[in-house]
Amino acid sequence: MEKAYKVCQSCGMPLKQDPIGGGTNTDGSKSLMYCSHCFISGQFTRPDITAVEMKSLVVEKLVEMKFPRLIAKLFAMNIPKLERWNQNHKN
Ligand SMILES: [Zn+2]
Repeated sequence: MEKAYKVCQSCGMPLKQDPIGGGTNTDGSKSLMYCSHCFISGQFTRPDITAVEMKSLVVEKLVEMKFPRLIAKLFAMNIPKLERWNQNHKN
């Protein structure tokens, strides 16, 4: 069974706050792991991005949304722990 996550396992955004309710799988079903900014039709929108790059991207985005930079950095600190960046412990 696929696990349902509270936050996008790529960028850490709460999936509840996704304007369209989550990313989509290849078959068009909703992704339970990723948000619509990261994952569309079974593909990552930025397939080559690293966890470090994702962190700075998210910080910039949050600062743009008027979050204090310190809060943004604290939030982004958890990104490398998300499933997308931890593929090695599986299989
Ligand atoms: Zn995401």
